[in-house]
This record gives sequence, C-alpha cells and structure tokens, in this order.
Amino acid sequence: MFDVIIVGAGPAGLSAALYAARSEMDALVIERFAPGGQLLNIGVVENYPGNFRDERNSFSGYELAQKMHQQAEQCGAYFRIGTVEAIQKEENRFAVRIAGEETLYARAVIVATGAKHRLLGIPGEKEFTGAGVSYCAPCDGPFFKGKKIFVAGGGDSACDEAHYLSRFSPEIVLVHRRDHFRAQKALADRVLNNPKIKVEFNTRILEIRGREKVYSVMLEQNGRQFETAADAVFVCVGIEPEYFPVPELVRDESGFIVTDQTMLTSIPGLFAVGDVRASPFRQIVTAAGDGAVAVHSAVAFVDSFSG
Ligand SMILES: Cc1cc2nc3c(=O)[nH]c(=O)nc-3n(C[C@H](O)[C@H](O)[C@H](O)COP(=O)(O)OP(=O)(O)OC[C@H]3O[C@@H](n4cnc5c(N)ncnc54)[C@H](O)[C@@H]3O)c2cc1C
Repeated sequence: MFDVIIVGAGPAGLSAALYAARSEMDALVIERFAPGGQLLNIGVVENYPGNFRDERNSFSGYELAQKMHQQAEQCGAYFRIGTVEAIQKEENRFAVRIAGEETLYARAVIVATGAKHRLLGIPGEKEFTGAGVSYCAPCDGPFFKGKKIFVAGGGDSACDEAHYLSRFSPEIVLVHRRDHFRAQKALADRVLNNPKIKVEFNTRILEIRGREKVYSVMLEQNGRQFETAADAVFVCVGIEPEYFPVPELVRDESGFIVTDQTMLTSIPGLFAVGDVRASPFRQIVTAAGDGAVAVHSAVAFVDSFSG
C-alpha cells in the first residue's frame, strides 16, 4: 500500500512526486511513456523560472524533464512504466489498475494525466510542429517577432492568442471557417479593433507548406483556393483532457476535472493537477504549482488515517 499514487509524469506529476517524497510519503509515479510529458516536445523552455544555462540560452524541455525526474527520484519517489486504465475508490484506499498488469493500492491518488491540443488535421501540420506550427502563443510567440503569423480558430483562445501575438508582430491573420466568432464578445471586439490583426472569416487553412520551416499556407476562401506567405501558424481550435477512466468525477463542459483550490476533486482523497484539471491557464509553472498544492492536501488526507 502506497501513501500516494501519482498518475502521469509530466511537470505536474513530477512536482507532486518531489513534494510527496520530501514529505516522507511512500509515493509511486506511474507513467505510460517516459517522464516529461509535453515537456519532451518543447525545443526551448524560456518561461520556467530559473531554467537557464547562461544569459543567452535556456534549457530544452527534455533537459528540464530529466532534471525534474532525477530530483524526484533522488528524493525517494518510485517510478514505473504502465498505463493506468482504472481507479476505484474502496473503503479506505484506492485500487489503481495498470493495463495488462497488476492492481496497486494507495491511500490517495493524484491524477496528472495532462491534455492534448486538437489538431487541424491538415497536411504539413505535424511535419512543421516546432518549425513554425505552434499550439501555444505564450510559449512560442517571442520566436516570431516581426513575422507574418496565421492563427486558426474562432473561439476564446484563438482571439486571446491572436491579440497576445500582436505584441510581437504587426502582421497577424486570424482565419476562421465560420462567418462569426464563437468567442466572448469582449475578446472578439478586442481582435476586431486591433489594427495589427486581419480577420478572415469563411476561410480555412488547407495545407501548411515549408522546407525545414513554414513558408506558406494554402487557403480556401469562398470556394477559391490560393497560396500565401506565412512564417508561423498558431493552431487554437481547442484543447481536450487526456481521457481518464474515473466516470464519477465531476468535470466541466469540456471534460476537464473540476477541483477546489486544494486540488481536491469530487472524490475525497483523489486530487487532479496540471493540464487535466479545469483551469484558466495551462503552463509548466502552473502544473508544477498544482503538484505542490495537491501534495500539501494529500499529506493531511493520508495523516487523517493515523489519527
Ligand atoms: C509544443 C508545446 C510547447 C509548449 N511550450 C511551453 C512553454 O514554452 N512553456 C510552458 O510553460 N508551457 C508550454 N507548453 C505547455 C506545457 O507543456 C503543459 O502545460 C504542461 O506540460 C502540462 O503538464 P502536465 O504534467 O499537466 O501534463 P503533461 O505534460 O501532458 O503530462 C501528462 C503525462 O501523463 C501521462 N499519462 C496520460 N494518461 C496516462 C495514463 N492513463 N497512465 C499513465 N500515464 C498517463 C502522459 O504520458 C504524460 O507523460 C507547451 C506545450 C506544447 C504541446
């Protein structure tokens, strides 16, 4: 029986593992791939405090993941590979089933399974991810200062990200396949009144083209197809939580797990952290912060069993 099982070893899970181990908890992290989560897809992480090598260079996402993993392991957290396929609350413990393997038990569980961005699903998107195609304006916007940037989407996040990107470039094109935004009026108006943003309704990106990095997009507008120059494409068509097999958990309308400010879900002893939980901002630093808060709460929960 572990004090706590942490599912997922992205920055939220790794931070939880570090805090749990340093709190003298018996903590096990179960990760289906390799420690790091989305960090493993990030070339350079420029906005995690302290993550710099010298005054010019930051560490990569991979290096940051390695450091977080090593630190948690050195402090005493256990790691194992496996995909958690079910979590069940039993009287005074949780049963955590690993696909094709055994069931493990813990007093508390921290779900840190992350989220994934919806894709446009067009040619060139996967090929140029990290080479002009991005899903995160605060992460990658500064790499495209003064460049021609396309943003795809019509909801809150597309409007918000287009506005944010206009800090870096006077040439933002927001492309939306419908004839009006889905975004809140205030966000839509901010975009429509921003002289650096050109809005193209009834327009779809059909293909992203490039050689090593993006150089153009193929657009379809009112039945006409044409190619136009582009340096970057920010895809903002939504984000969805990784499916997580606890049906009775309370979630928001998009499927993200609802927690209180202690990271407690609707099930006592079950906590959710990082991108998988309902939250207004999803970053490495917020994921790591969530992990610390959840352990603070889990320690109190586990201690309650020893009177
Ligand atoms: C391309 C890209 C660039 C980004 N750049 C930045 C940046 O520069 N700065 C920044 O702050 N943020 C950036 N982000 C966002 C940041 O990476 C995420 O907010 C952060 O990684 C979320 O951490 P997490 O631990 O909640 O989830 P994740 O990092 O998604 O980790 C979740 C982990 O859980 C595992 N998992 C899922 N389901 C199961 C299961 N059933 N069983 C076992 N394991 C499971 C997954 O394999 C994964 O390892 C970027 C994201 C992307 C995609």
